[in-house]
Amino acid sequence: MDSLTAALYKHYGWRSFRDGQRPILEAILDGRDSLAVLPTGGGKSLCFQLPALIREGLVVVVSPLVALMEDQVMQLKRRNIQAACLHSGLTPHRLKEAFTSLEDTSLRLLYLAPERLQGFSIREALKAKARKKEIVAFAIDEAHCISAWGHDFRPDYRKLDELRTLFPGIPFVALTATAGPRVRADIIRLLQLRNPFVQVCSGRRKNLFYSMIRRSKTPIIEVLEMLKDARGASLIYASTRRSVEQWTASLRAEGIPAIPYHAGLDITIRQEALEQFLELPKPVLVATVAFGMGVDRGDVGLVLHLNLPTNPERYIQESGRAGRDGLPAKCIVLFSPGDRKRISWAMKSNLSEITFNSTSKSDQDKIRVEFAHDQLRKMEEIAEGALCREQSLLLNLGELSSKCGRCDRCKNQLKERDWSLKAKILLTEIEKLEGSNIVSLVDKLEKKVIEDEESWGWLSRRLVQDGLLSESNDAFQRLYIKDSGRRFINKPWPLEFVGRN
Ligand SMILES: [Zn+2]
Repeated sequence: MDSLTAALYKHYGWRSFRDGQRPILEAILDGRDSLAVLPTGGGKSLCFQLPALIREGLVVVVSPLVALMEDQVMQLKRRNIQAACLHSGLTPHRLKEAFTSLEDTSLRLLYLAPERLQGFSIREALKAKARKKEIVAFAIDEAHCISAWGHDFRPDYRKLDELRTLFPGIPFVALTATAGPRVRADIIRLLQLRNPFVQVCSGRRKNLFYSMIRRSKTPIIEVLEMLKDARGASLIYASTRRSVEQWTASLRAEGIPAIPYHAGLDITIRQEALEQFLELPKPVLVATVAFGMGVDRGDVGLVLHLNLPTNPERYIQESGRAGRDGLPAKCIVLFSPGDRKRISWAMKSNLSEITFNSTSKSDQDKIRVEFAHDQLRKMEEIAEGALCREQSLLLNLGELSSKCGRCDRCKNQLKERDWSLKAKILLTEIEKLEGSNIVSLVDKLEKKVIEDEESWGWLSRRLVQDGLLSESNDAFQRLYIKDSGRRFINKPWPLEFVGRN
């Protein structure tokens, strides 16, 4: 057993590292900056915890969520490792305690919210520790939060750009579960990592079974079936607080003691919900996406989204909370064509809020909102598309992989049929209208051809995907014909799509 494995065994009781962990540890121990993209459940925390234990020094961890920090500190303390956290939710007493613990050389991990690093006293305390060579490394967890192209941009993370210069000679490690090439480049640039070692592990999770299904008019029936089949804990994501409440009530009416969780609930109720989720044998938790980051329960057997997720990258992260114990788990999305429109409008009102309160660069905000629309459309393409779910999700992260062989698309091949006749009718109408939104287009088309409204909408989305139409990147979703669409009208070619599901 070499010394790293021996340390792993001594501190964690494990005999081997997971994929990608060792090179990251070696880089940190060599004093080199690094970027680690390890999938959810890949053991990110170990990469920065073990160096602190081996070197018997302090690792400063920047983390975006209070719940995440508290949770990790609690787990470390349980294993007799000295850890503390600093965030705005601390009582004056605990704040003082945290500062006192900093003076103690036995402190191994200090978790900090990014805005805390702006404080004068904490900076001075850390600088003093750095001078005494007591800091082993800085770890920036959930590092994708620094990128405006990530799915969870947090402006506070941008302030971390000064850290590298403030603490020369101490290695920095940036960690994330999901970051495509653009986000990775942003992380390296914005954190000013120096000649970093980059470790990107495959996002493939061989024990996850993806399905994306059209939501029926009475989804409760399907949801009850899914819950009956699920092992361990079930996590149900609803899009709004109201919907969390409604679903909790409906499930309870069916005899399932569902637990609600959203940011509008009182902190003690949320804490209780979290404890129940961690401790009950088969809890069913209905939550907004606010729930889940860092929640450490291995046997989540079902992650169910009741609506179209907003972004493929975020979806990978959310669904990745299933099956962290390595056993089979299901990730199911229920969606409807109306979802994208509804989410788009929510984004639009978000933007008006931003521009209304605008103190800063509204152009940049607009670009971000356009990017968000684009990601939402990609998510819809994946849900309605014919390709393997995992393959198309990973492709969005810049990873080329083969078909998973496990998802609903891989299991049930759908039949393709030719849509060129209908496509010609639709494209001709849009050309005549010189652009149109889908509602008035369907209105016009219905008078010409009897066809249900959803089919036309579905077909127009396929034509956008195929590059014959373009669509405005806003809530209006106006459609315009492209040159390729005109060429198609003049001389149609076969357009094979699998039918609606
Ligand atoms: Zn597949």
